[in-house]
Amino acid sequence: MIRENLKKILKELPEGVQLEGAAKTRSPEEVLEAIEAGLQIIGENYVQEAEKAFDVIGNRARWHMIGHLQRNKVKKAVRIFDMIETVDTMKLAREIDKCSQNIGKTMAILIEVNSGEESQKSGVLPEDVLPLVQEITTFQHVNIEGLMTMGPFAGDPEDSRPFFQRTKELYDKLKEMDLPGVEMTTLSMGMSNSYKVALEEGANLVRIGTKLFGQRH
Ligand SMILES: *Cc1c(COP(=O)(O)O)cnc(C)c1O
Repeated sequence: MIRENLKKILKELPEGVQLEGAAKTRSPEEVLEAIEAGLQIIGENYVQEAEKAFDVIGNRARWHMIGHLQRNKVKKAVRIFDMIETVDTMKLAREIDKCSQNIGKTMAILIEVNSGEESQKSGVLPEDVLPLVQEITTFQHVNIEGLMTMGPFAGDPEDSRPFFQRTKELYDKLKEMDLPGVEMTTLSMGMSNSYKVALEEGANLVRIGTKLFGQRH
């Protein structure tokens, strides 16, 4: 089933768009099945789950952190992940920089944008993205490669469109500014119900769980 789902999704993705399998609650065996069928990027929400899957799968995939990252988990996270998509504070960026330096790594990160400006959600407010990016560029062991957003939960994917548009505008603006140490190559938006809208609005990394692995139990 995972194999067929993957083939179907890959067929729908335009050239230059990458698929990330959102693996929360899946067993390492399920994740491995997707990788053997051709999935290249795994998105993990929890460091502990990622560690378990990484023990089984290792470098057969690239690992992205897509959940909220606590500072006391950063030391473990920088060993496993190739990219951290959820950086939203200077404190977190500083810890990632420090722990990456300690293991001789430069970590690729995305800035998570709270595009819906929801008070209880993680991510940085749109108006605070640029100042945060400028501060983070002072770190030597962190490379900013783009933006990520969830958007408010919406039953109708059309309701997500304005939040994807807003994030794309920020992405384009940062790209145009061409700041030193900022690459702007990755725009991570869209999940199972919303990735088609996200693609129309310029996403080039989509994070898909349910449609790839089936309903979560
Ligand atoms: C779970 C999750 C997804 C995928 O959600 P689905 O609706 O199952 O496709 C994408 N991004 C993040 C950050 C998630 O936590």
